[in-house]
Amino acid sequence: MIQTAVTPFKNKLNSALTKKQITVLQINLGKRCNLACTHCHVEASPKRTEELSPEICDQLIEIIRKFPQIQTVDLTGGAPEMLYGFKPLAEAARATGKEVIVRSNLTIYWEKGFEDIPEYCAKHQLRIIASLPCYQADNVDKMRGSGVFDGSILALQNLNQLGYGKDANLVLDLVYNPQVPTTEKFSLTPEQGKLERDYQVYLAAHFGICFNQLFTITNLPVGRTKFHLEHKKLHQPYLGFLEDNFNPNTVEHLMCRNELSIDYLGNVYDCDFNQMENRPAKTRTGETITVAKLLETGSLDLIQEVQTAAYCYGCTAGSGSSCGGTLI
Ligand code: SF4
Ligand code: SF4
Repeated sequence: MIQTAVTPFKNKLNSALTKKQITVLQINLGKRCNLACTHCHVEASPKRTEELSPEICDQLIEIIRKFPQIQTVDLTGGAPEMLYGFKPLAEAARATGKEVIVRSNLTIYWEKGFEDIPEYCAKHQLRIIASLPCYQADNVDKMRGSGVFDGSILALQNLNQLGYGKDANLVLDLVYNPQVPTTEKFSLTPEQGKLERDYQVYLAAHFGICFNQLFTITNLPVGRTKFHLEHKKLHQPYLGFLEDNFNPNTVEHLMCRNELSIDYLGNVYDCDFNQMENRPAKTRTGETITVAKLLETGSLDLIQEVQTAAYCYGCTAGSGSSCGGTLI
């Protein structure tokens, strides 16, 4: 229904969206989270029970050890810190000299049983990419739940005390997500550099907080964001807006081109959004891929072409968007 009104993403490209050599392994450890944010594309919440099994965790550790081409292991969820496999995967990746990213909601540090996480991350020099969708309390609490802003500020102050955002080996980045649109007055995600300066000035002046970079991430119409857009009859207009702002210069830099996204069952996707939409990655001969198959074939580079859909316009609108912020 939606795709008939929007140009198929493939038709917008001059050539097939091919995969480059895989250098990033993004692992989604599961769907449990201490929060239940309105924009969550994973539809995570405290009630979800899905998480990595010991068997898949062991296979992933084998992959991390076996393939030196992997430069970065990116741990996400849910709240990755509360899910099975977090520490073994982080330690296996650090032991082989890889960068480890933890996508943190910050408030997990205040949950019982997870108070040690900041010290743990500092000890293993894990890079923390933390969600803070606005630097003002009411906007954050509206998107993420009451009290989340205060908890996040305390967590950032704690991380700064440990050296995060200051020590070159303790990188602390923040993520900005716009609010999910509620009217047809759509706008592109704000300019990353300018917003980063605004965040830096405000957080330093009001809370004495410093951080490394700010990443702005466009809301893709996937998961809860899609649900909210459909509820307001804005799904199709939003896709149309994103298509109108398609920027061909972003295509070269799309994150799906050099990453594998793995779900808690060990299935392989081109990115986390495709994972949430159940659109698996395919080999040259059209077969789906699992972590076991990667080990069996001895190659991470089995994919010729990235699987795309209309929501890919979210990654290519304006300056582009990825888990590492704007693309150009
Ligand atoms: S957006 Fe992040 S913090 Fe919020 S519910 Fe989803 S996984 Fe949890
Ligand atoms: S959603 Fe974005 S990252 Fe995923 S396949 Fe589409 S363009 Fe690539």
